[in-house]
Amino acid sequence: MPNLYVFDKDGTLVHPRKDGYVESPEDQVLYEGVRDKLDRLRSEGHVLAIASNQGGCDYHEVGAERLLDGSSFAIEDDEGIFAGDFFTVLSIDTDDHGLINVETSSQDFTFSKGEPVLMQYKTIEGAIAEMEFAADLCGIREAYFAPTMDGKSIVSVNRSDSKWHYQIETPSPESKYSFGGFRKPQPGMLLMPSYGYKYDRRIMIGDRDSDRQAAIAAGFEFIWAEVFRNAQE
Ligand SMILES: [Mg+2]
Repeated sequence: MPNLYVFDKDGTLVHPRKDGYVESPEDQVLYEGVRDKLDRLRSEGHVLAIASNQGGCDYHEVGAERLLDGSSFAIEDDEGIFAGDFFTVLSIDTDDHGLINVETSSQDFTFSKGEPVLMQYKTIEGAIAEMEFAADLCGIREAYFAPTMDGKSIVSVNRSDSKWHYQIETPSPESKYSFGGFRKPQPGMLLMPSYGYKYDRRIMIGDRDSDRQAAIAAGFEFIWAEVFRNAQE
C-alpha cells in the first residue's frame, strides 16, 4: 500500500522571492532539492497532496489607513458586505483633512482615518492560481486550502485531463464531511484527501506548530519541513 504525504505549502515546499508573503502566483520558488525528493516519493507510488491555510482570503477588519495597494477589500454597511464583493485597491492618498481616498478597480471611496473597512489580502481566485502554480512546480495534482479563519470552508484544487479544476465547499459543521474543520490546526485538510482510501502511513510535513497539531488531530505522523528537506536518503 502507498503512503499519503500531505505537505504544507509556504515555508515547506515554496518560499516567496523576498521575505514576507507570496505576492502573486509567480512569486513562489521551490526550496532547493524539494522537487527531487517529491519525484522520488512519486516514483515509489506514494500519494502527494498540499494543504495550506489561506486566511488572507477572509475578510479582516482594518483601519482605512492600513489598506495596501494591490489588496482587495470590501465595505460593510447596514445592508451587510457591500455588494457582497471586493475591489482591488489601485492607489491610496491621504489629504490634509485626515481623509483617505482609495481608488479601486471599479469604484472610489473616501474614509476617515481609522474608520474600519473589511479587507481581503488576496482573493479566492488569486489563492487558487497560487495553489495551481505551486502544485505545478512540485508536480503535485491535488491541493487544498482553507480560505476562511473559522475553518468552515475548503477549496479543493485538482489537476485532471491536463487542466486544473476547483471546488469550494462549506459543509455543515455537524456533517461528517466537515472533518472537524479545515483550518490547521483543525484536521480536515488532512483527513479529506485520505477519506475512503487505505494507506500504509499517513504523514504531514510542515514548518509550523499548527501543522504539527493538525497532524496529531488527524492521527498522522509529522515531519518538520526542514528535516524533510535536509534528509540525505
Ligand atoms: Mg507554512
